Amino acid sequence: EMGERLFMLEKPEINFSDVGGMEREKKEIELKIIKPLQFPDLFKAYGKKAGGGILLYGPPGCGKTYLAKATAGQINAEFINVGIHDVLDMWVGNSEKNLHSLFEMARQNKPCVLFFDEVDALGANRTSMRNSGASHLINQFLSEMDGIAADNENVLIIGATNAPWHLDAAFRRPGRFDRIIFVEPPEQQGREDILKIHLRDKPVKDIDFVALAKASAGFSGADLKCVIDVAVEEKLMEALNTGTPLPVTQKELAKAVKNHKATTREW
Ligand code: ATP
Repeated sequence: EMGERLFMLEKPEINFSDVGGMEREKKEIELKIIKPLQFPDLFKAYGKKAGGGILLYGPPGCGKTYLAKATAGQINAEFINVGIHDVLDMWVGNSEKNLHSLFEMARQNKPCVLFFDEVDALGANRTSMRNSGASHLINQFLSEMDGIAADNENVLIIGATNAPWHLDAAFRRPGRFDRIIFVEPPEQQGREDILKIHLRDKPVKDIDFVALAKASAGFSGADLKCVIDVAVEEKLMEALNTGTPLPVTQKELAKAVKNHKATTREW
């Protein structure tokens, strides 16, 4: 019953147009994931199949989860976000049945993107996990991924990690997480786009996006989102005092950028 309770299908409301920057990442996903889904026969003719797994890696907060969700939205697929700790917890209980029902849920709702955050946690310390009795779970994860028991066509498995070097080599074999995409912190233009995306449904006035993007070098998408939340919050408080909605301006945004410490710098 764990499978049904922990894992939720969602139909993402975001697609690539909601993802700022990441032009290279989007192009790679287009080529490595979306095209094979759209033209399976063509890919088959060259010995390549649709589905399988890709691995997103990069510093925290740079949009791996967001990009995976937008990928599902882009192809109108269902999305299942699986925290790896939910999977790890499974071995305590009815693990095999639960892991199988998770993959079955994806297969029955295809096209479906099955997203595993922190997937390295599953692949790391395999030896110690073997001792703890979790190796069964890992092996089962790999065979579910290989589609041994059932067909994974049109099930896309996306794993995310901040530490790809911790991932067990068995996870990287062909048909598993054999395609890797580096999700980088956004460049100047990317930061500009991200700020615009997250401000587009808010009242704003006289914003200098170029200046804000310049001042926020090293910021991740999550950092930028946080900056906007702070600036909007400040304006909202001011509006509460006056009783009228006031537009967010450069002043609050520049201040929020200045007060925020970038999280990706040391990566
Ligand atoms: P972690 O590695 O910690 O899981 P992550 O790389 O998965 O982080 P997300 O959780 O996807 O990062 O990103 C956090 C939030 O930052 C997103 O929900 C989104 O609002 C915003 N964000 C990140 N990158 C972008 C982007 N390129 N465009 C628009 N918003 C973004």
